[in-house]
Amino acid sequence: ERRAALAASTGPGATSDGHKVPLLANIGGPADVAGALEAGAEGVGLFRTEFLFLDDSERAPSLETQTATYRQVLEAFPEGRVVVRVLDAGADKPLAFLSPGEEPNPALGVRGLRTLLDHPEVLDTQLKALAAAAEGLPVYLEVMAPMVADRADAKAFADACRAAGLRAKFGAMVEIPSAALRARSVLQEVEFLSLGTNDLAQYTFAADRQVGAVSRLQDPWQPALLDLVSLSAEAAKAEGKSCGVCGEAAADPLLACVLTGLGVTSLSMSASAIPYVRAALSRHTLAQCERAAAAARAAESAEEARAAAEAVLSGE
Ligand code: PEP
Ligand code: MG
Repeated sequence: ERRAALAASTGPGATSDGHKVPLLANIGGPADVAGALEAGAEGVGLFRTEFLFLDDSERAPSLETQTATYRQVLEAFPEGRVVVRVLDAGADKPLAFLSPGEEPNPALGVRGLRTLLDHPEVLDTQLKALAAAAEGLPVYLEVMAPMVADRADAKAFADACRAAGLRAKFGAMVEIPSAALRARSVLQEVEFLSLGTNDLAQYTFAADRQVGAVSRLQDPWQPALLDLVSLSAEAAKAEGKSCGVCGEAAADPLLACVLTGLGVTSLSMSASAIPYVRAALSRHTLAQCERAAAAARAAESAEEARAAAEAVLSGE
């Protein structure tokens, strides 16, 4: 069955009735590009730029080094879409030279966009490197900030992008419940949303993503998490903007159908998951995905939500 699913799985992501859901790859750098292309990724939905910063614990990579690396990735997707996330330092991704010092709760401290707003020169160099890397390429560049909490965060990021002369779409990751609850406000400042379901689950359930003992609460099938996905997707739809998912949730074929039913407009995942997600989507109509989403949201637990979605999608 596994082989049959893969064989049937080529081309752009879409439901059986032709509702398009671009399937994008999560990458950490140029080394991941080949795998993404091989899996038929329609672009990159999350370029985690942290890896570039790990070589030197004293300083950020130079403008030239960053430009060259970003260009390698952008060149691999001519006419395609590449969503780059600016540096997400802190908490589970510590960087010595940007460390905020001792914090009692690093996951609730200065991390992600907060770190960059404290070090505007690091953000500015990264944005200028992205602008230089995209120069003259037909690629469709989008740049997003991690850990956006509210409209003020989104505005600060968009202002920094404009000041750096970046010609791209600016977006906000939805990883903090406040951003999902007030997604329409956030969307007054940026052009797209991307749900980081790993952190969104962590902050919704007050359950550290690095602590195995609370992993039950990290399950992306939790109906409360699905509610926040729905709120974000509905807000984006009302504003005529897009709302993707780039957390691990998108890599689960059944959940990918549910996310589509909730109104999510693209799915980004590790390349190896793309063929399975493409095959699952191609077996169901958008209306069936919507029914599965409604059934999952009506459930009282992650297990019930999964079973309810499965029952809807297999009983048709
Ligand atoms: C997320 O939090 O879901 C996400 C995609 O970002 P990361 O896993 O890199 O924190
Ligand atoms: Mg995250």
